[in-house]
Amino acid sequence: MRCRELLKYLSDYIDRDLDASICRHIDSHMKGCKPCIAFINTLRKTKGLLKRQPKAVLSERLRFRLRKLLKKS
Ligand SMILES: [Zn+2]
Repeated sequence: MRCRELLKYLSDYIDRDLDASICRHIDSHMKGCKPCIAFINTLRKTKGLLKRQPKAVLSERLRFRLRKLLKKS
């Protein structure tokens, strides 16, 4: 699985709202991908801060943040 494919699952991944098979793909990707590890840590914090935001707004913000992170690496 590539970072961009992973992106659409990350929010649900954090909520533990995914199929076990998809979670396994993400887990194995996370072992070797520093940008994604950094991103998911940011995402966990951000989700705590933005709990009251509508979901659509939240995911737009997260996509933007991940794109920025991936460009840096
Ligand atoms: Zn990645």
